[in-house]
Amino acid sequence: MNANAIMNTYARLDVSFVSGEGAWLVDTDGNRYLDAIAGIGVCVLGHAHPEVADTIASQAATLLHTSNLYRIPHQEQLAAELVRLAGMDKAFFANSGAEANEAAIKISRLYANKKGIANPTIIVTDGSFHGRTLATLTASGSRKVQAGFEPLVNGFVRAPFNDIEAITKIADNNANIVAILVEPIQGEGGIRVPDSDYLTRLRSICDAHDWFLILDEVQTGNGRTGHYFACQESGIVPDLLTMAKGLANGFPIGVCLAQGRAADVFQPGNHGSTFGGNPLACAVGLTVVRIIQEQDLAKRAAIVGDRMQTAFAARLGGCQRVKAIRGKGLMMGIELDEPCPQLPQQALEKGLLINVASERVIRLLPPLIISDEEADQIVDILGELIETIQELPR
Ligand SMILES: *Cc1c(COP(=O)(O)O)cnc(C)c1O
Repeated sequence: MNANAIMNTYARLDVSFVSGEGAWLVDTDGNRYLDAIAGIGVCVLGHAHPEVADTIASQAATLLHTSNLYRIPHQEQLAAELVRLAGMDKAFFANSGAEANEAAIKISRLYANKKGIANPTIIVTDGSFHGRTLATLTASGSRKVQAGFEPLVNGFVRAPFNDIEAITKIADNNANIVAILVEPIQGEGGIRVPDSDYLTRLRSICDAHDWFLILDEVQTGNGRTGHYFACQESGIVPDLLTMAKGLANGFPIGVCLAQGRAADVFQPGNHGSTFGGNPLACAVGLTVVRIIQEQDLAKRAAIVGDRMQTAFAARLGGCQRVKAIRGKGLMMGIELDEPCPQLPQQALEKGLLINVASERVIRLLPPLIISDEEADQIVDILGELIETIQELPR
């Protein structure tokens, strides 16, 4: 193997996998790893899921792509299913989370421009992550993602995450605001869970000002947090909702859902995507969405997630280096008191795949199909690893 021809965008671990099954991956030497990150929250049904594989094979043998010049039955079906689940009206399909967010941003601007707002501005939050395109990296609240790519895109203002007062202050002082874009739980930002009334209060503020509430559920969607969409725990419906990662278990897809005023903003010529919503991606999406519901995997995520958080709390509650254990369902973070960039490699050596977000937060996004035993194994291996660091001199 030779990585020289690959652009240096990722600090990769020196391992590669040749196959997988459920929550397990097998490397080139035949070693097995328990996958507690699932391709960054993507493989919700685990690896090599037989029905996903069958869908891909049979759809590929039937029809891959026709373009959006024509009607696409699988796209219409997946759209209908997702808007039904979300209690929303319409869907636009793209190929990634960043593109789904671009669609939401463009809808907000188009709506505002039609209303005569001169400088449509979207409120975004500290610590957020919305993607790597120019607009979505501008919307992201991390200098690391933005640095060196100036000039950034106009039309965003930033507020602290989980701070309603900051939003009200902006509302009083800026007549150009058209939307708030926020993650229900920040993922890349370090699994930050806001107050339980945060989304409800954002919904009221948006209603009072005729702003769009845009929820980025790229990471939290598809059952991961214990509901099909994380916002369903708050009982609110956003105007725009984006999802991607787990939607087709690894087949690239993204979607922007819209309701009410936001649903009919785009007209032919306003937006598009060559690949977006193609028959293959949507067929896989339909299979994944059906299985998540048939097996009630959102509920399963809530139960296993609680089991793991309780076990982590019991085991690591006394560790001085553990600052917090948090999350919802199978979206969990363990915050340490200092950066731990070495931890994914150490876990790898013990047969466990994890990731670190925001430098010091161990992030777990296992497949929603993990068994109780596998969940306990994750707690055991990671618990032991953290206890070992605890004993090391600083
Ligand atoms: C991963 C992620 C994105 C970006 O998705 P891509 O498919 O990598 O473009 C956007 N928002 C959130 C919350 C994410 O977790």
